[in-house]
Amino acid sequence: RDSCVSDSSDSVISSGSDSDGHVHKVVLLGEHGVGKSSLARIFGGVEENHESDEAGNMYDRSIIVDDEEASILLYDVWEQDNSQWLREQCMRMGDAYIIVYSVTDKASFEKASELRIQLRRARQSENIPIILVGNKSDLVRSREVSVDEGRACAVVFDCKFIETSASLHHNVQDLFEGIVRQIRLRKDSKEE
Ligand code: GDP
Ligand code: MG
Repeated sequence: RDSCVSDSSDSVISSGSDSDGHVHKVVLLGEHGVGKSSLARIFGGVEENHESDEAGNMYDRSIIVDDEEASILLYDVWEQDNSQWLREQCMRMGDAYIIVYSVTDKASFEKASELRIQLRRARQSENIPIILVGNKSDLVRSREVSVDEGRACAVVFDCKFIETSASLHHNVQDLFEGIVRQIRLRKDSKEE
């Protein structure tokens, strides 16, 4: 494997900016309990059983995707302080967004749609990369949102879609590689 965010530091190389000197700000959105911090900790390479309940964190990592280094600053601050001001900042500052819901929680899925709409409103003319994430795919028996529903929602909202399990580390690497690819695609199309 030439890129990896889900396990230890061997292929997660130094933090800092990537070749064009740019750090991509990626913001996690989603209702409480859907797994944002769990996904962020995997990205950040934080110890598995270190289940801190800190309100907000940022993770600065460079990962290699398609043989190219990308520098990501991941913000897990959506729920921090419950502050309206901070939420507005979140909506404004991201270069890309990961909107998370839990497949075991229909309300969190509906919230994800709301967030998508808010984001569209906040960043009207911009074509920001967004990935819709259905997390907790391991909890098969308590599933309330089907893969098809998730996928259909992403089509309507014109964003990418992936199901993950932070518990099993399933698709988490793909998620972060995916966001890097989306950022590159949009950047390339802007430059043309
Ligand atoms: P946040 O509020 O969105 O930051 O959610 P957390 O990351 O704190 O996760 C909330 C709870 O869900 C924690 O108890 C996690 O261990 C659990 N959790 C997170 N992701 C998964 C997952 O993929 N599968 C399962 N079974 N539990 C998860
Ligand atoms: Mg959290």
